[in-house]
Amino acid sequence: MAIALAFHSPAEALLLLFLSHMLILYPTLRPRSAWWGPVVTRFRTPRQEVWLTIDDGPTDDTAEIVRLLTACGAVATFFVKGRLAAEQPELIALITRAGNKVANHSATHPSGTFWCLGPAGLAKEIDDGNEAIVRSGGQSPHWFRAPVGMKNPWVHPLLDARGMRLIAWSRRAFDSVRSDPEKIARSLTRGARPGDILLIHQGRPTSVAAIRAVLAALEHAGLSPVVPDDGSLT
Ligand SMILES: [Zn+2]
Repeated sequence: MAIALAFHSPAEALLLLFLSHMLILYPTLRPRSAWWGPVVTRFRTPRQEVWLTIDDGPTDDTAEIVRLLTACGAVATFFVKGRLAAEQPELIALITRAGNKVANHSATHPSGTFWCLGPAGLAKEIDDGNEAIVRSGGQSPHWFRAPVGMKNPWVHPLLDARGMRLIAWSRRAFDSVRSDPEKIARSLTRGARPGDILLIHQGRPTSVAAIRAVLAALEHAGLSPVVPDDGSLT
């Protein structure tokens, strides 16, 4: 049976085309959108706790960041690039020895193209990232964060098949556009509440100072950075 679409005007046809594209682009480009599948943006806790997540390492500042965390009695989850983990496995050991967790932030971090990769390309990014972490002495990760948070309809089935979950955030530092550590810390922590997932990066000129300021602000707010159990993720 043929289906005929009748438009009253070219503008109407263009509008329909635009809307149909938006239906695909919205969940792809919105990191916290769960239209393609579940995206973790918070965790349940009865205590004054937040989850600090640090992306894009391991980098030269890893040791200093781990020292800062330990000095504050805090722990974080490092979403690492597989390629960098493979180059510096000793940093993966350093992170985990101090009670922090390592998770997968793809193998090569293809920021501009991850969202349009097909199933084979996505599987390679996920699997190579996991493999690099395991080869560096880490545990096989069950958490994945997409580069720049973008994902497409193939990401969830691939993660499901590997027993992995997609982790986003509830608050981010905007530390790629801000350079003042205090302002970065304020934007990340002001109004933070228990169960928040905080996103900040490492490997930038201000990363160490910003993370130091974040830890001080969280302590001031009475919020402890923890690594939550899988069962508490929402
Ligand atoms: Zn990243």
